[in-house]
Amino acid sequence: MDTIEQADCRIEQADCRGSTFSLSQADERAIDVVIDLLRPARRLLFITGAGLSADSGLPTYRGRDGLYSRDGLFSRDGVYRDGLTTPHGMTIEQALSGPMLASRPEITWHYLRELERSARGGVPNRGHRVIAEMENHFDAVWTVTQNVDGLHSRAGSRQVLDVHGNLHDLLCTQCDYKVTVPDYADLALPPLCPRCQGILRPTVVLFGEQVPEEKLARLWYEFGLGFDVVFSVGTSSLFEYIALPVELARALGIATVEINPETTAVTPEVEVKISGGAAPVLDLIWQRYMVGWPWW
Ligand SMILES: [Zn+2]
Repeated sequence: MDTIEQADCRIEQADCRGSTFSLSQADERAIDVVIDLLRPARRLLFITGAGLSADSGLPTYRGRDGLYSRDGLFSRDGVYRDGLTTPHGMTIEQALSGPMLASRPEITWHYLRELERSARGGVPNRGHRVIAEMENHFDAVWTVTQNVDGLHSRAGSRQVLDVHGNLHDLLCTQCDYKVTVPDYADLALPPLCPRCQGILRPTVVLFGEQVPEEKLARLWYEFGLGFDVVFSVGTSSLFEYIALPVELARALGIATVEINPETTAVTPEVEVKISGGAAPVLDLIWQRYMVGWPWW
Protein backbone atom coordinates (compact mmCIF):
# COMPACT_ATOMS: atom_id res chain seq x y z
CA MET A 1 0.00 0.00 0.00
CA ASP A 2 1.29 3.43 -0.90
CA THR A 3 2.00 5.48 2.14
CA ILE A 4 2.44 9.19 2.37
CA GLU A 5 4.79 10.12 5.18
CA GLN A 6 3.64 13.33 6.78
CA ALA A 7 6.43 14.17 9.13
CA ASP A 8 5.32 17.77 9.35
CA CYS A 9 4.22 19.66 12.44
CA ARG A 10 0.68 18.38 12.34
CA ILE A 11 1.46 15.71 14.87
CA GLU A 12 2.59 18.30 17.39
CA GLN A 13 -0.57 20.28 16.82
CA ALA A 14 -2.52 17.12 17.41
CA ASP A 15 -0.49 16.49 20.59
CA CYS A 16 -0.48 12.82 19.85
CA ARG A 17 2.20 10.36 20.63
CA GLY A 18 4.73 9.48 18.00
CA SER A 19 6.85 11.56 15.72
CA THR A 20 5.26 10.84 12.35
CA PHE A 21 1.74 10.47 11.18
CA SER A 22 1.13 8.55 8.02
CA LEU A 23 -2.02 7.80 6.12
CA SER A 24 -2.45 5.66 3.04
CA GLN A 25 -3.56 7.33 -0.17
CA ALA A 26 -6.94 5.65 0.27
CA ASP A 27 -7.26 7.27 3.72
CA GLU A 28 -6.19 10.64 2.30
CA ARG A 29 -8.98 10.35 -0.28
CA ALA A 30 -11.40 9.24 2.44
CA ILE A 31 -10.66 12.43 4.39
CA ASP A 32 -11.52 14.48 1.30
CA VAL A 33 -14.82 12.58 1.09
CA VAL A 34 -15.52 13.42 4.75
CA ILE A 35 -14.85 17.13 4.10
CA ASP A 36 -17.40 17.02 1.25
CA LEU A 37 -19.91 15.36 3.60
CA LEU A 38 -19.31 17.99 6.29
CA ARG A 39 -19.68 21.09 4.06
CA PRO A 40 -23.51 20.95 3.88
CA ALA A 41 -23.96 19.12 7.20
CA ARG A 42 -25.71 20.73 10.20
CA ARG A 43 -26.20 17.87 12.66
CA LEU A 44 -23.46 15.39 13.59
CA LEU A 45 -23.29 12.37 15.86
CA PHE A 46 -20.00 11.08 17.26
CA ILE A 47 -19.79 7.66 18.87
CA THR A 48 -16.50 7.38 20.73
CA GLY A 49 -14.63 4.70 22.62
CA ALA A 50 -11.35 3.82 24.24
CA GLY A 51 -9.31 4.46 21.10
CA LEU A 52 -9.94 8.20 21.51
CA SER A 53 -8.83 8.28 25.15
CA ALA A 54 -5.84 6.09 24.23
CA ASP A 55 -4.53 9.15 22.37
CA SER A 56 -4.46 10.87 25.80
CA GLY A 57 -2.25 8.06 27.07
CA LEU A 58 -5.06 6.30 28.92
CA PRO A 59 -5.09 2.52 28.86
CA THR A 60 -8.13 0.89 27.37
CA TYR A 61 -10.41 -0.87 29.78
CA ARG A 62 -9.79 -4.29 28.29
CA GLY A 63 -8.30 -5.58 25.10
CA ARG A 64 -4.86 -5.60 23.59
CA ASP A 65 -3.45 -2.79 25.73
CA GLY A 66 -6.10 -3.26 28.39
CA LEU A 67 -5.60 -2.53 32.02
CA TYR A 68 -6.34 -6.06 32.99
CA SER A 69 -4.03 -7.68 30.50
CA ARG A 70 -1.35 -6.95 33.09
CA ASP A 71 -3.24 -8.99 35.64
CA GLY A 72 -3.21 -11.95 33.29
CA LEU A 73 -6.86 -11.76 32.35
CA PHE A 74 -5.74 -11.19 28.81
CA SER A 75 -2.84 -12.97 27.20
CA ARG A 76 -0.18 -10.94 25.44
CA ASP A 77 -1.93 -11.37 22.11
CA GLY A 78 -4.95 -9.62 23.54
CA VAL A 79 -7.16 -12.69 23.54
CA TYR A 80 -9.43 -13.06 26.51
CA ARG A 81 -8.94 -16.32 28.38
CA ASP A 82 -11.85 -17.62 30.36
CA GLY A 83 -11.11 -18.64 33.88
CA LEU A 84 -8.20 -16.26 34.43
CA THR A 85 -8.69 -14.41 37.65
CA THR A 86 -7.84 -11.22 39.47
CA PRO A 87 -5.66 -11.25 42.59
CA HIS A 88 -8.95 -11.58 44.49
CA GLY A 89 -9.55 -14.94 42.84
CA MET A 90 -12.39 -13.84 40.60
CA THR A 91 -12.84 -12.55 37.08
CA ILE A 92 -12.81 -8.82 36.51
CA GLU A 93 -16.44 -9.08 35.43
CA GLN A 94 -17.27 -10.47 38.86
CA ALA A 95 -15.14 -7.95 40.75
CA LEU A 96 -16.58 -4.96 38.87
CA SER A 97 -20.21 -6.07 39.06
CA GLY A 98 -23.32 -4.65 40.69
CA PRO A 99 -23.80 -7.70 42.95
CA MET A 100 -20.17 -7.52 44.14
CA LEU A 101 -20.54 -3.82 44.94
CA ALA A 102 -23.59 -4.68 47.05
CA SER A 103 -22.00 -7.58 48.92
CA ARG A 104 -18.23 -6.82 49.01
CA PRO A 105 -17.88 -3.11 48.11
CA GLU A 106 -14.22 -3.07 49.14
CA ILE A 107 -13.41 -5.50 46.31
CA THR A 108 -15.27 -3.53 43.64
CA TRP A 109 -13.69 -0.31 44.92
CA HIS A 110 -10.21 -1.89 44.77
CA TYR A 111 -10.60 -2.25 40.98
CA LEU A 112 -12.44 1.03 40.54
CA ARG A 113 -9.46 2.68 42.21
CA GLU A 114 -7.06 0.91 39.83
CA LEU A 115 -9.15 2.08 36.91
CA GLU A 116 -9.22 5.67 38.19
CA ARG A 117 -5.51 5.66 39.02
CA SER A 118 -4.65 4.50 35.50
CA ALA A 119 -6.66 7.40 34.06
CA ARG A 120 -5.45 10.03 36.58
CA GLY A 121 -3.62 12.92 34.94
CA GLY A 122 -5.16 12.22 31.54
CA VAL A 123 -6.09 15.40 29.71
CA PRO A 124 -8.29 15.92 26.66
CA ASN A 125 -6.39 15.46 23.43
CA ARG A 126 -6.82 17.17 20.08
CA GLY A 127 -9.57 14.72 19.10
CA HIS A 128 -11.71 15.64 22.13
CA ARG A 129 -11.11 19.33 21.45
CA VAL A 130 -12.00 19.09 17.75
CA ILE A 131 -15.37 17.55 18.64
CA ALA A 132 -15.93 20.31 21.23
CA GLU A 133 -15.03 22.99 18.64
CA MET A 134 -17.45 21.41 16.17
CA GLU A 135 -20.24 21.88 18.74
CA ASN A 136 -19.76 25.63 18.34
CA HIS A 137 -19.76 25.44 14.55
CA PHE A 138 -22.62 23.12 13.55
CA ASP A 139 -26.28 23.34 14.56
CA ALA A 140 -25.95 20.28 16.78
CA VAL A 141 -23.14 17.89 17.62
CA TRP A 142 -23.95 15.02 19.96
CA THR A 143 -21.36 12.68 21.41
CA VAL A 144 -22.20 9.21 22.66
CA THR A 145 -19.22 7.80 24.52
CA GLN A 146 -18.36 4.54 26.21
CA ASN A 147 -15.47 6.26 28.00
CA VAL A 148 -15.82 6.90 31.74
CA ASP A 149 -12.96 9.43 31.99
CA GLY A 150 -15.05 12.59 31.49
CA LEU A 151 -12.57 13.95 28.93
CA HIS A 152 -15.23 15.06 26.41
CA SER A 153 -16.79 17.36 29.00
CA ARG A 154 -13.39 18.62 30.11
CA ALA A 155 -12.62 19.46 26.48
CA GLY A 156 -15.73 21.64 26.42
CA SER A 157 -18.35 19.37 24.84
CA ARG A 158 -21.78 20.00 26.36
CA GLN A 159 -23.94 17.48 24.52
CA VAL A 160 -22.35 14.30 25.81
CA LEU A 161 -24.23 11.07 26.47
CA ASP A 162 -21.74 9.10 28.57
CA VAL A 163 -23.66 5.84 28.41
CA HIS A 164 -21.18 4.04 30.69
CA GLY A 165 -21.12 6.85 33.26
CA ASN A 166 -18.26 8.88 34.71
CA LEU A 167 -15.70 7.70 37.26
CA HIS A 168 -15.63 11.14 38.87
CA ASP A 169 -19.34 11.44 39.61
CA LEU A 170 -20.19 9.60 42.84
CA LEU A 171 -23.63 8.75 44.17
CA CYS A 172 -24.82 7.38 47.49
CA THR A 173 -26.37 3.93 47.15
CA GLN A 174 -28.81 4.77 50.00
CA CYS A 175 -29.83 8.42 49.63
CA ASP A 176 -29.73 11.16 46.99
CA TYR A 177 -26.28 12.50 47.96
CA LYS A 178 -24.03 13.24 44.93
CA VAL A 179 -20.51 14.56 44.66
CA THR A 180 -17.99 15.07 41.86
CA VAL A 181 -14.37 14.32 42.75
CA PRO A 182 -11.24 15.18 40.72
CA ASP A 183 -9.74 11.76 41.58
CA TYR A 184 -9.83 9.06 44.24
CA ALA A 185 -6.57 10.04 45.96
CA ASP A 186 -8.26 11.29 49.13
CA LEU A 187 -11.05 8.72 49.32
CA ALA A 188 -11.28 6.10 52.04
CA LEU A 189 -12.23 2.85 50.34
CA PRO A 190 -15.03 2.13 50.16
CA PRO A 191 -16.07 5.78 50.55
CA LEU A 192 -19.07 6.45 52.75
CA CYS A 193 -21.85 9.00 52.40
CA PRO A 194 -21.34 11.96 54.77
CA ARG A 195 -25.11 12.15 55.27
CA CYS A 196 -26.21 8.57 55.84
CA GLN A 197 -23.01 6.47 55.93
CA GLY A 198 -24.22 4.50 52.91
CA ILE A 199 -21.66 3.22 50.40
CA LEU A 200 -20.82 5.68 47.61
CA ARG A 201 -20.38 4.47 44.06
CA PRO A 202 -19.40 6.13 40.77
CA THR A 203 -22.04 6.52 38.06
CA VAL A 204 -20.16 3.98 35.93
CA VAL A 205 -22.20 1.08 34.62
CA LEU A 206 -20.82 -2.07 36.27
CA PHE A 207 -20.94 -5.53 34.74
CA GLY A 208 -24.45 -6.91 34.99
CA GLU A 209 -26.01 -3.43 35.16
CA GLN A 210 -28.12 -1.72 32.52
CA VAL A 211 -27.10 1.35 30.57
CA PRO A 212 -29.20 4.33 31.81
CA GLU A 213 -32.38 4.41 29.78
CA GLU A 214 -32.67 8.19 29.74
CA LYS A 215 -29.34 8.55 27.91
CA LEU A 216 -30.34 6.06 25.22
CA ALA A 217 -33.77 7.70 25.01
CA ARG A 218 -32.08 11.04 24.35
CA LEU A 219 -29.92 9.46 21.67
CA TRP A 220 -32.98 8.06 19.86
CA TYR A 221 -34.81 11.36 20.27
CA GLU A 222 -31.92 13.20 18.60
CA PHE A 223 -31.77 10.49 15.96
CA GLY A 224 -35.41 11.23 15.24
CA LEU A 225 -34.49 14.87 14.55
CA GLY A 226 -31.99 13.59 12.00
CA PHE A 227 -28.23 13.52 11.61
CA ASP A 228 -26.26 14.36 8.49
CA VAL A 229 -23.11 12.39 9.35
CA VAL A 230 -22.53 9.71 11.99
CA PHE A 231 -18.93 9.09 13.09
CA SER A 232 -17.68 6.01 14.91
CA VAL A 233 -14.33 6.89 16.52
CA GLY A 234 -11.99 4.53 18.32
CA THR A 235 -14.58 2.01 19.42
CA SER A 236 -14.69 -1.68 18.65
CA SER A 237 -18.52 -1.35 18.66
CA LEU A 238 -19.05 -4.60 20.55
CA PHE A 239 -22.07 -3.24 22.42
CA GLU A 240 -25.35 -3.28 20.58
CA TYR A 241 -26.25 0.30 21.51
CA ILE A 242 -22.87 1.46 20.14
CA ALA A 243 -23.15 -0.43 16.85
CA LEU A 244 -26.87 0.19 16.33
CA PRO A 245 -26.70 3.94 15.56
CA VAL A 246 -24.22 3.22 12.76
CA GLU A 247 -26.35 0.41 11.36
CA LEU A 248 -29.48 2.53 11.63
CA ALA A 249 -27.77 5.50 9.97
CA ARG A 250 -26.70 3.30 7.10
CA ALA A 251 -30.23 1.95 6.70
CA LEU A 252 -31.61 5.50 6.68
CA GLY A 253 -29.12 6.67 4.08
CA ILE A 254 -27.18 8.88 6.53
CA ALA A 255 -23.45 9.15 5.80
CA THR A 256 -21.33 7.00 8.14
CA VAL A 257 -17.62 7.39 8.85
CA GLU A 258 -15.38 5.15 10.93
CA ILE A 259 -12.04 6.40 12.28
CA ASN A 260 -10.15 3.46 13.71
CA PRO A 261 -6.84 1.80 12.86
CA GLU A 262 -8.51 -1.56 13.53
CA THR A 263 -11.21 -3.42 11.64
CA THR A 264 -14.29 -3.52 13.87
CA ALA A 265 -17.83 -4.83 14.01
CA VAL A 266 -19.12 -1.76 12.13
CA THR A 267 -16.37 -1.60 9.48
CA PRO A 268 -18.48 -3.50 6.91
CA GLU A 269 -21.39 -1.10 7.61
CA VAL A 270 -19.73 2.26 7.12
CA GLU A 271 -19.60 4.31 3.97
CA VAL A 272 -16.18 5.84 4.71
CA LYS A 273 -13.40 4.12 6.66
CA ILE A 274 -10.25 5.94 7.77
CA SER A 275 -7.61 3.63 9.21
CA GLY A 276 -5.86 6.10 11.48
CA GLY A 277 -5.67 7.23 15.07
CA ALA A 278 -8.61 9.24 16.41
CA ALA A 279 -6.83 12.44 17.46
CA PRO A 280 -4.58 13.02 14.42
CA VAL A 281 -7.32 12.12 11.92
CA LEU A 282 -9.92 14.38 13.58
CA ASP A 283 -7.36 17.17 13.68
CA LEU A 284 -6.59 16.74 9.98
CA ILE A 285 -10.30 16.68 9.04
CA TRP A 286 -10.96 19.85 11.04
CA GLN A 287 -7.94 21.70 9.65
CA ARG A 288 -8.86 20.89 6.06
CA TYR A 289 -12.54 21.61 6.63
CA MET A 290 -11.77 25.03 8.07
CA VAL A 291 -9.41 26.10 5.28
CA GLY A 292 -10.70 29.41 3.98
CA TRP A 293 -13.53 29.66 6.53
CA PRO A 294 -15.75 31.65 6.26
CA TRP A 295 -16.40 30.55 2.70
CA TRP A 296 -18.66 33.37 1.61
ZN1 LIG B 1 -26.31 8.74 51.66
